[in-house]
Amino acid sequence: MRILIVEDEHRIAQSIKRGLEQESYAVDITFDGQKGFDLASTEDYDVIILDRMLPTMDGIQVCRNLRTHNVHIPILLLTAKDRLTDKVEGLNAGADDYLTKPFAFEELLARIRALIRRPKELLNTALKVADLVLNTTSYEVKRGSVSIILSNKEFALLEYLMRNIGKIVTKEKIITHVWDYDADVLPNTVEAYIGYLRNKVDRPFKKSPLIHTVRGFGYKIAEK
Ligand code: CA
Repeated sequence: MRILIVEDEHRIAQSIKRGLEQESYAVDITFDGQKGFDLASTEDYDVIILDRMLPTMDGIQVCRNLRTHNVHIPILLLTAKDRLTDKVEGLNAGADDYLTKPFAFEELLARIRALIRRPKELLNTALKVADLVLNTTSYEVKRGSVSIILSNKEFALLEYLMRNIGKIVTKEKIITHVWDYDADVLPNTVEAYIGYLRNKVDRPFKKSPLIHTVRGFGYKIAEK
């Protein structure tokens, strides 16, 4: 899952990025509102963390402009103020949720998880394909009763495939959702990571494989 942080306080932005990367998210940062709007309307993000007070275009305006341009990525608005009018203004501008600074990282994480799962899964944090289960909260992955240990990127890749169960995802889509903008990832890298995942999720089990290559298109995870 890929997240955009639009926050002009570098220290806060960097510390959120570090925290989220440890939780397997791909993260891009920008420090001004206009650039935030440009990135959010051209790149494929799963969540945007948007500061209220920003240079060049303030957070409320970024939010409003994105919604007017039909960009419906979930937005978590950050603000230093805790006044009711600000909350109402933010939500009216199209933000999905609201967090007042200073906040605990754990709370930010909980809100992000809620925003990512909101459209499809509601409160279900376990993704399942056949007997493979991935828990997006505890980070546990199991096939049957066997625990599988994955690296951060492997986990992120598997999560992305499982959120798109039965659908073909292209290498480009995978790169966009699993790696950040600066990572400069080539399609070969995706192939390599699919290989690592197969070695952990499919090969050790004497069962039909779950990760499928769809020649010329990409990959999908499904029972058949
Ligand atoms: Ca600010």
